[in-house]
Amino acid sequence: MNLVSTNPNTMEVIGEITCTDINSFNSLIEKSKAAQSYWKEITIDNRIKIFKRVKEKLYNEREELARLVTKENGKPLFESYSTEIIPTLSILNYYIKNARKFLKPHFERIKIPVMIHKKSWIEYEPYGVVGIISPWNYPLLLPMGRIIPALISGNAVIFKPSEWTPLVGEKIDSLFKSAGLPENVLQTIYGGAEIGEALVKSNIDKLFFTGSTRVGRIISKTAAEKLLPVSLELGGKDPAIVLPDADLDRAAMGIVWGSVMNAGQTCVSVERVYVHEQIFESFLNKLIELVSQLKAFDNSPYYDYSNIKLQAQVDIIREHIEDAISKGAKIIYGGKFDKNKVEPTILIDVNHSMKVMKEETFGPLIPVMKFKTIEEATALANDCDYGLSASVWTKNISLGKSIARKIQSGSVLINDCISYFGAGEAVVGGIKMSGTGRVNSRSGIMEMVFEKYYNYDTFTWQKKLWWFNYSEKSTKIIKEATQFLFDKNPLRKLISGVKVFPELLKRK
Ligand code: NAD
Repeated sequence: MNLVSTNPNTMEVIGEITCTDINSFNSLIEKSKAAQSYWKEITIDNRIKIFKRVKEKLYNEREELARLVTKENGKPLFESYSTEIIPTLSILNYYIKNARKFLKPHFERIKIPVMIHKKSWIEYEPYGVVGIISPWNYPLLLPMGRIIPALISGNAVIFKPSEWTPLVGEKIDSLFKSAGLPENVLQTIYGGAEIGEALVKSNIDKLFFTGSTRVGRIISKTAAEKLLPVSLELGGKDPAIVLPDADLDRAAMGIVWGSVMNAGQTCVSVERVYVHEQIFESFLNKLIELVSQLKAFDNSPYYDYSNIKLQAQVDIIREHIEDAISKGAKIIYGGKFDKNKVEPTILIDVNHSMKVMKEETFGPLIPVMKFKTIEEATALANDCDYGLSASVWTKNISLGKSIARKIQSGSVLINDCISYFGAGEAVVGGIKMSGTGRVNSRSGIMEMVFEKYYNYDTFTWQKKLWWFNYSEKSTKIIKEATQFLFDKNPLRKLISGVKVFPELLKRK
């Protein structure tokens, strides 16, 4: 079977890729395991050399790659640069610079007096074979953000790009191969849900899934059966809170961008807006003015928003609008659909009985709700099953910070939204139904390794106090040892210490 890749703006077929044979998983895994045992022995410095070449290639081929992303995903070329090429290069830079430091063994002296002579340390071990399943909405940035830390830390990767953007997936694969990554250290597989399921069920050692909460749940169940470690980066319903003192022009620009960028198909899109009653009307007018200036795809290279990639998503957007209208909401701008072209739409008179305020829309909708008090705004922001990101718009940074601390989400931006997503240093990830994993930063590489603890005993002549045989005498000594270690009274501590110390020096 073939995957057919289509440009959502023109509906032209741009390429085809053969699906991976579902019966080939055993041999795929064997190849990955063999490659990993070789790859993890390569020094980190030599591994990093390959990543430098990947970066160079990606940079040199940026125009071709950006155009491919635009064709396959639909997003404007500007966004293929600003939200895919630049962040991916930044993340490469970040791990090239920092991976060695993050993966350095870490010495940890045990402070318990009876073990002080032990030498102990922690090493960061790659899991082995990491499965990476990705969505289509950021077909370059999201896979690369997981593949880079997984490989650099010594894992082999089996990568499944979305069935809707396989050509960008194939390009990622070829970037690594042409940069000299040894054979089978990265294997890319193609297909839809059934291939994803087969990967989860296969003998991989860790799974990193990015996609919908619905699929995240299915995957979690399968993984739980075999206790497969899983990181999940799932959907969102990010709130934006606009306070009366906010710079309204700037807040309106930021929120329109945060809602409509990539046609709203971003996990950290602004999906609901809470505006203080004092500024509600003037803020709304600014939103309407800005949204009315946005340009839909029109065959020119410079448009602001594309068509919606998947028909099923168009149906969800329509359903959210219809549900809201049936419960009393009003469209004050937009609302038109033309096949998979959805006009950015501003809704008012919305409330939390409506899907548009509770479920992920993943489209260019801006539902705007009035609030009276900060407590009410925070409660509304938290009245949601998701907890990915959020934004607060105010000139009072200390107030912004205090609201940010009360919002239940993996991140909160003050006076901006989304932009942290492509920064290597920023920690990205959610809580609640938005998932469990973290990407970028030190946390992103820690998702790909486990801490392995080592110690050795330098007193090899010694019989340990805690070994067999237990007797009345040894029980007395262990009681004295407890007193020596934890008693608050220095005199009692000293007396017990004097009794315990000779026992510690006993030979075998
Ligand atoms: P999706 O869940 O439908 O698909 C994601 C991937 O999972 C695809 O590769 C798909 O083939 C695969 N898949 C589908 N069913 C599977 C199964 N049963 N077992 C294994 N794999 C399976 O999501 P999508 O439509 O591609 O992407 C949109 C969703 O992803 C949105 O909900 C969005 O919020 C979320 N997302 C989250 C983040 C994040 O970092 N938190 C980033 C981007 C997108």
